[in-house]
Amino acid sequence: TAYLVLIVALAFLLGVMAVIPIGGADMPVVISLMNSYSGLAACAAGFAINNMILIVAGALVGASGIILTQIMCKAMNRSLANVLFSGFGAVSSSDEKIEGEVKAITHEDAYYVLEAASSVVIVPGYGMAVAQAQHALKELMELLEARGVDVKFAIHPVAGRMPGHMNVLLAEADIPYDRVLEMDEVNPEFATCDVALVVGANDVVNPAAKTDSSSPIYGMPILEASKARQVYFIKRSMRPGYSGVDNLLFYQDNCSLIFGDAKDVCEGLAAALKGGAH
Ligand code: NDP
Repeated sequence: TAYLVLIVALAFLLGVMAVIPIGGADMPVVISLMNSYSGLAACAAGFAINNMILIVAGALVGASGIILTQIMCKAMNRSLANVLFSGFGAVSSSDEKIEGEVKAITHEDAYYVLEAASSVVIVPGYGMAVAQAQHALKELMELLEARGVDVKFAIHPVAGRMPGHMNVLLAEADIPYDRVLEMDEVNPEFATCDVALVVGANDVVNPAAKTDSSSPIYGMPILEASKARQVYFIKRSMRPGYSGVDNLLFYQDNCSLIFGDAKDVCEGLAAALKGGAH
């Protein structure tokens, strides 16, 4: 019993020490790495109690977790060693001085621009999941397409709070796969699109990742929504996203914020499109 308690205490310490140095913005990588570790632990337990199913299932979970970890590292533009060991003494405050002011508009104002647009790229994020706005977005997509607007969805690999979070929600709402584009495919489209509609996303479009070397998300590839002719953010307040840093895009001239719950605002936009001009 004494050995068991000691081993549990040491394992607890090892777990905490392994996670403490990892910076906040690297959390997606850590989550998939933890998944992988759980598989390896099951595999080791399988050897200990001589259980073939545990060994095979554990090895499968461990191996797929490592593959996912690699994919997430690539998405964050970091090496695994860098994720695991670089967070010691990390500073999370940004040096970038923010210039410009935030413009707030209503969904009625946004409606006029949306209905006159010829291409719209929708960027879903964690807030879409919180608001469960995926069905309202599907309706919005259909209404815009009925008016001849080209609508696409842009998916960042770490959008939401787990790998594939956005893809699962959009699939649940039956949004056709050919409208859903990964970061590399969709980034060139922003420069020519009329509206980038950012629905409950924040960090994944923050230009600080490219311009502010003191930012905790510096180096992470982002969706280049800032290049669109007009950017609309749907969110409830000025609160930052998961990484806790201010979004420089809010202050850009071509950007406006529509404050509100993502589902309510998307339903409002859909209602305006259905009813014509208000
Ligand atoms: P963010 O966390 O950057 O931003 C989400 C935004 O959604 C917030 O700014 C919030 O603003 C808004 N929001 C929340 N609820 C609602 C609502 N009901 N209606 C409208 N808006 C809402 O999300 P992103 O998807 O852009 O980025 C994901 C972040 O999470 C990244 O930093 C990533 O590293 C991290 N992460 C990702 C994991 C993954 O595996 N995908 C795992 C762990 C972390 P407000 O409160 O003002 O409404």
